[in-house]
Amino acid sequence: MVNLELMDWKTYAAQVKDGEAVIMLPIGAIEQHGPHMSMNPDVLIPKAISEGVAKKGGSILVAPPISYGYKSQVKSGGGNFFPGTTCINGKTLIDIVKDVIVAYAKHGNRKFVLVNGHFENSMFLVEGIELALEHLRHGGIEAQVILLSYWDYVTQETIETVFPEGFTGWDVEHGGVLETSLMLYLHPECVNMDKVIHHEPATFPPYDIFPSDESWVPSTGTLSSAKNATREYGEILYNVCVDGIYQSVNERFS
Ligand code: ZN
Ligand code: MN
Repeated sequence: MVNLELMDWKTYAAQVKDGEAVIMLPIGAIEQHGPHMSMNPDVLIPKAISEGVAKKGGSILVAPPISYGYKSQVKSGGGNFFPGTTCINGKTLIDIVKDVIVAYAKHGNRKFVLVNGHFENSMFLVEGIELALEHLRHGGIEAQVILLSYWDYVTQETIETVFPEGFTGWDVEHGGVLETSLMLYLHPECVNMDKVIHHEPATFPPYDIFPSDESWVPSTGTLSSAKNATREYGEILYNVCVDGIYQSVNERFS
């Protein structure tokens, strides 16, 4: 059993009281990902990767994901104006991250891995971590947190395999081959490849504009085409992320 919320509290307490357990906390977003996919890949992918890491052994537990994330941005998530895209303010996300880390630390936990699945969350996760550690330090508790985004574990070799026609960058992968392949492998019930609408990768000016200019975004909501996504690519991507993250966790925490 790797999902801590499925455990009874006594079993959980016994496993975490010495501070040696590692708590993996997936953080995502509810955000449209094109007409061919559900709105929660940013939650389901880091959750599944965290479970894969925990199943490799050692005392690693997966916490329930933080499902809501910071506001979708036009150049990385299509923007915060699509029906279904449901986002929270930066200060709300900071508070949730801080409160959750502090709560798990009160149970005895000292080792955390935040697994991000939504690009826009990044700096708010940093702030939540900083404030949690500062709060705990005042109470005489020293904890350590690894922060990562899973796509940073995709190796150059894997990029060449999955993007044989050339790689245009993680920012325009929103709803594209990376996420769609991972979802075909992990949650095929959430993907309908018949509904993929092919288009060239989105291109943007070097600046952002506020309020958002909706005409910058392909009407599909995806920033690149998922046409070449396959379950096989998803399995390769999943394994490279799980193996790499497991190695990082062991380097820092064992
Ligand atoms: Zn996404
Ligand atoms: Mn996202």
